[in-house]
Amino acid sequence: MALIVQKYGGTSVANTERMKAVAERVVATAKEGNKVIVVVSAMAGETDKFVALAHQITDSPDEREMDLLLSSGERITSALTAMAIQKLGYSSMSFTGRQVGIMTDSSHTKALIENIEASRLKTALDENKIPVVAGFQGINEFSDVTTLGRGGSDTTAVAIAAALKADICEIYTDVEGVYTADPRIVPDARKMESISYDEMLEMASLGSKVLHGRSVEFAKKYNVHLVVRSSFNNAPGTLVTKEDRCMEKTVITGVAHDKNQVRLTIMSVPDRPGIAATIFNAIAGANINVDMIVQNISSHDQSTDISFTVSKADGKKAFDITRKVSEELGTKGVNMNAEVAKVSIVGVGMQSHFGVAAKMFETLAKKGINIMMISTSEIKISCIVDVKQTEEAVKVLHDVFELAKG
Ligand code: ASP
Ligand code: MG
Repeated sequence: MALIVQKYGGTSVANTERMKAVAERVVATAKEGNKVIVVVSAMAGETDKFVALAHQITDSPDEREMDLLLSSGERITSALTAMAIQKLGYSSMSFTGRQVGIMTDSSHTKALIENIEASRLKTALDENKIPVVAGFQGINEFSDVTTLGRGGSDTTAVAIAAALKADICEIYTDVEGVYTADPRIVPDARKMESISYDEMLEMASLGSKVLHGRSVEFAKKYNVHLVVRSSFNNAPGTLVTKEDRCMEKTVITGVAHDKNQVRLTIMSVPDRPGIAATIFNAIAGANINVDMIVQNISSHDQSTDISFTVSKADGKKAFDITRKVSEELGTKGVNMNAEVAKVSIVGVGMQSHFGVAAKMFETLAKKGINIMMISTSEIKISCIVDVKQTEEAVKVLHDVFELAKG
């Protein structure tokens, strides 16, 4: 008997018919002799609707109130899915994040899980009930509801799988797994059989939305066997797992892109110690994640430009803060460019191959695609390009690194 956590995303529970189909799959897994814990997202589009409602009232909704609002979509699907399982003659119980003891910090709308006190889940399993947990939410030390960031139900599922040492965590979605590039852009993108945790972490943070980045961090840390597969068919999906030698033979595993980027440039910043710290402390103080940072060497007047990127959602907040700090520092001003995208290549194999970066830059150059910023890690190279050239860049890189179907 295995303990299996199954997470169903928004399209998998988009309506009651889909919820009934999910219940069938859950029950089939239970019939095979497994213990199952179900984690659900909100119905597709529901969370966006809540965001829109809040914005009908105010431009800057209070984040504590936002979290209570956003968490409600998952409560609805958890109760309905539990009913659908009961209808099939199986005992089931829905739970909110609070009820299963998902404790987080207090960074509303992007809270981090600190601990899971899963006693109610264990009891339910012991009593042969199938628990259905509302994903994406927890509570902080004041018992206020928090949410884990958009797409965060994946993280609920993996964290529960880690806490209960589940044998496998299946993430059900509307695609068959992790692809070498977004199949909507590259029609001959290939579904991967497996991908390493580190590559998946990069792919997730680089804009491949198939898994929430934090969920992969959890999976890696606690060695959770993670499978991404479709709830619309029985294809085997993609296994996210430890790196193995074979993976190194391929130079590049995938191409990711992210249009959810804004570039900010501070012009003529005085070139002296402590300036970067002042700027980025102010931004960190507002809970904003900075992605790429580029600082030029100083010019003859002892000043330099600093560019960095943040997510679109944080763009305005980051712009306001940066403008304020740069006035204090006496720079020549800040400009914001929202017409950018990040295009990245990922692969553990690039550690053992030469010339990968050169090949990427040359390929983009041949297509007349200008690179505005570059950042690298051991297993990825990212370029900021004009958003209008995103699709072309993804296609040409997928081609040149020969990622297409066999
Ligand atoms: N419903 C939330 C969202 O749309 C969380 C999730 O689906 O994972 O972001
Ligand atoms: Mg998702």
